Amino acid sequence: MLTMNNMYFTEEHNFFRKSFQDFLQKEVVPHIEKWEKTGTIERFIWEKFGEMGYFGLNQSEEYGGLDLDLFYTVIFLEELQKINSGGFAAAMWAHAYLAMTHLKEEANHKQKEKYLTPSIHGEKIGCLCISEPFGGSDVGGMRTTAEKKGDSYVLNGSKTFITNGVYSDYLIVAAKTAPELGNKGISIFVLDRDSPGISSTKLDKLGWRASDTAEIAFDNVTIPLENLMGEENKGFPYIMQHFALERLIMGVNAHARSEYALEYTIQYMKERVAFGKSISKFQALRHRVAQLSSEVEMCKTFNYVTAKRLNDGEYVVKEASMSKLISTKISDEVMYDCLQFLGGYGYMEDYPLARLSRDSRLGPIGGGTSEILKEIIAKMVIEGKEYKPAT
Ligand SMILES: Cc1cc2nc3c(=O)[nH]c(=O)nc-3n(C[C@H](O)[C@H](O)[C@H](O)COP(=O)(O)OP(=O)(O)OC[C@H]3O[C@@H](n4cnc5c(N)ncnc54)[C@H](O)[C@@H]3O)c2cc1C
Repeated sequence: MLTMNNMYFTEEHNFFRKSFQDFLQKEVVPHIEKWEKTGTIERFIWEKFGEMGYFGLNQSEEYGGLDLDLFYTVIFLEELQKINSGGFAAAMWAHAYLAMTHLKEEANHKQKEKYLTPSIHGEKIGCLCISEPFGGSDVGGMRTTAEKKGDSYVLNGSKTFITNGVYSDYLIVAAKTAPELGNKGISIFVLDRDSPGISSTKLDKLGWRASDTAEIAFDNVTIPLENLMGEENKGFPYIMQHFALERLIMGVNAHARSEYALEYTIQYMKERVAFGKSISKFQALRHRVAQLSSEVEMCKTFNYVTAKRLNDGEYVVKEASMSKLISTKISDEVMYDCLQFLGGYGYMEDYPLARLSRDSRLGPIGGGTSEILKEIIAKMVIEGKEYKPAT
């Protein structure tokens, strides 16, 4: 019989899932509470991820990767959601799939040797700096500039809400090289953290507490010409192109943490007794669980189909936008209701729903808000607009 599992996952995939689960339980889970409190993920775990090859799942073998299909990435994302630290998960996937996607797609051989290979090995951590204090949703409205002067660019401006923005070793930065051209004048650079003129401030936030989120200032930072990634002024199309993967990632994360929350809550409901019976027998609650389970299953099914199409080379802008839009909304509903089903315990930090609720709330905001996703989908379904990849 063909089940959803074996439609997408082979024996090798399942083996990988099991070994990654074991790794997370043994190496990560014992430290999560500490990292959630300090907002600092210790270096040794990055190195262990590197040693195990987890940062190179979709990267080419030439640079130390494993060159595996996208369903290994799906497993990586799903299992990271199931140890209940959205912040830890974000730190890992922002490195592997935000910073490293730009390296994979736009960096030249020399840049890959210098940044991509150590990233795969967990020796260098990256972050992706697009959002700014005066330009989040409106990427084209960014104000950071990189002015060419002789044999270098001079970078001035600021970025905000950058995941891994405090502790990373290098920064992938979008800046205007031709401000007069608007979004057609943006370029992408890779910068070493210790370049003079870079300073960062750690931000305090509702959830994702294990991950460091930064405001970053660039004050006359000199960027060597060789640190330009890809073609000058092609930054905007590069960014938009990679949003398809980022948005699908956030959709997958959402269905996975929803599944985790429901699984936990259903077990809890079976054990919790009120009015002489298990609360899982109350119809009002049962129907809500049935509704949410159906919605999560539909998200998961849609996300897998979209992952398959992306893996096969299709440019799934519409579907990835839909995936993030709906899966993150459902996830917030799941967290709200699951917390409710735990009663007062739902509000306590000793139970998983408090953190899950905080962490889930970023879903409809980060990587393109739900409103922006609706703008994209509306243009595609109403005006028939088509988006094409940059290259
Ligand atoms: C924890 C965290 C981690 C993040 N990590 C990163 C990162 O690693 N790298 C990075 O570059 N960015 C990162 N971001 C930034 C994130 O992508 C932005 O916050 C997001 O794109 C929204 O931008 P903004 O916050 O400036 O909101 P704004 O753009 O100011 O939007 C405010 C509100 O207005 C709405 N709005 C804006 N334009 C429209 C419109 N045209 N129609 C209707 N409604 C509209 C928005 O939907 C939103 O509700 C992170 C954010 C957070 C909170």
